[in-house]
Amino acid sequence: MSTAFYLPAECRLHDMGPGHPECPQRLDAISDHLLATGLDLALDHREAPLADVLQLGRAHSSGYINELADLLARVEAEGVRKALDPDTLAGPGTLQAALRAAGAAIAATDAVLAGECRNAFCAVRPPGHHATRAQAMGFCFFNNVAVAARHALDHHGLQRVAIIDFDVHHGNGTEDIIAGDERVLMCSFFQHPLYPYSGAVPMGTNMVNIPLPPYSRGEQVRQAIEQQWLPALNEFRPEMVFISAGFDAHREDELGQMGLVEADYVWITQQLMTVADAHAQGRIVSCLEGGYALSALARSVAAHLRVLADLN
Ligand SMILES: [Zn+2]
Repeated sequence: MSTAFYLPAECRLHDMGPGHPECPQRLDAISDHLLATGLDLALDHREAPLADVLQLGRAHSSGYINELADLLARVEAEGVRKALDPDTLAGPGTLQAALRAAGAAIAATDAVLAGECRNAFCAVRPPGHHATRAQAMGFCFFNNVAVAARHALDHHGLQRVAIIDFDVHHGNGTEDIIAGDERVLMCSFFQHPLYPYSGAVPMGTNMVNIPLPPYSRGEQVRQAIEQQWLPALNEFRPEMVFISAGFDAHREDELGQMGLVEADYVWITQQLMTVADAHAQGRIVSCLEGGYALSALARSVAAHLRVLADLN
């Protein structure tokens, strides 16, 4: 059984301007590295459709979707960038990119649940985990992982899914959307304090939040995962595992101050594979979130993918 891989060409069209760390070159770095290492050949490359309003509406309010779609369409027509918050800019390619990013996560969910592949990775941008039910922020527009998780629950009829978030930043948007939805268990760690400064007090009982101080390294992260995530996940018995795969907790990444390296991403992915194998028939859909040091990002994605594709 293969690993499906989505890297929609349209996701490169979203461009927030010179010097912005969440840049199209992130996807180029990933695809170049996969080609150079030959890993590219081991993946099942797939096309991503556009997400539709019904699908987005499982995670976002209709008012937000309509307003954002109108604004993005206007930006596309006028060709002038518009800031939604100080860090989050919409440009002419943003609507296409955002709809493909969420569409990839949905298509990956369909493919994994249909048994066409064992698991899937979506190399998409804009990322999603800071997008709340009704607000774009922190480089995020639509919450790709929350949309996909709700698709698995509401469209496919699964009863329990897990969302794992290992980005260095707290996934406040995902928490906002799924807090109180007892069909979802969200497990995350994140540097604290750090943008968006939330997460120390969970918004719901269905969250396992692990705030970690700056300069935490792999050893502390692994210990916290063993003590807090894994028992909760094994008790919850998810039927599918979604991953908000941000790689900005890497030692080389300057948007956070944590000390993870590729071997830590390998270990984390192995733990999640074990959980998925035990409870979820191995079903995992992983979506790119952050990761801004281009070389470290590409190496870390490759390390994550080698485990998912069983190539280690
Ligand atoms: Zn991040």
